[in-house]
Parts: sequence; C-alpha cells; structure tokens
Amino acid sequence: MIGIAHAGWPGVAAGIVGKTVRAMQETFGCRPRDVWAGIGPAIRVECYAFGRDLAQRVIAACPPGVPVIVPQPDGSVHLDLIAAVKSQLDAAGVGDVEDSGICTACHTDEWFSHRVEKRTGRFGVVLGLKGQVSTKNTKEHEE
Ligand SMILES: [Zn+2]
Repeated sequence: MIGIAHAGWPGVAAGIVGKTVRAMQETFGCRPRDVWAGIGPAIRVECYAFGRDLAQRVIAACPPGVPVIVPQPDGSVHLDLIAAVKSQLDAAGVGDVEDSGICTACHTDEWFSHRVEKRTGRFGVVLGLKGQVSTKNTKEHEE
C-alpha cells in the first residue's frame, strides 16, 4: 500500500507522522519496519526562521534530545523540519527513510514556498505503485 501525509510544522506538532504510520498498521496491517518513507521537497533548516513561541510545540512532539530547534548566532531560531520528521518516523519504527534533499525556499523557480514568496499556492502530488499489486490483506502474510 502507499500513503502520503503533509508534515509542515503544525502537522509535526500534531504527530501526523506517527498517526500516518499507525493508520497504515491498523487499516492495512503494515509493519513499520517494512515501510519505506520518502521526504519530499520542504523548507530546510538553513532557510526556516521559526518563532520561539512555537518551538516548544514542535519539541514536545518529537523524541527527547532531537535538535529540531537550532539557535542562530543572531539570537533567532530555525526549525529543522526534516530532523523532526525523521525522529517521528524513527519513533514509529520506520527505519528506511529517503530524503529528497530539496529546499523549497531555495528553489522557488520549481517549488512553491509560502515563507519566501508570501503568497499561497498548491502542490500536486501523484502516488503510484510499480508492478503487480496483491489484493490480499497483508495480515494474511504474517506468520
Ligand atoms: Zn533553502
């Protein structure tokens, strides 16, 4: 099976990553250790100036000790959204994670960035599975 979740800071603070993995487990019998997760284009820590007032909400949603809030020399803080998502995937038992490495804020010629462009927009995403797809419930395959 295949699924997608949008994980901006509010989603991360609400635990969307773990909730998505749990939904895949409960609905389709997926085992987290068998899940491959891909992280798409997103604003990266170097570009993500973040509000100190919101930082605790993201920190609280991630495992202890994960440096999701990165202090800057000028006293401001940046959010490492990718570290936050990876930590939540790890906590959910997903170990196979691939990151696109694309910063939307640095590449507004190809990607939309609300933070940089100060306007709203939409991403279109198409998901698909290659090859033959079994219609059997995966729970039948567990020993
Ligand atoms: Zn950037």
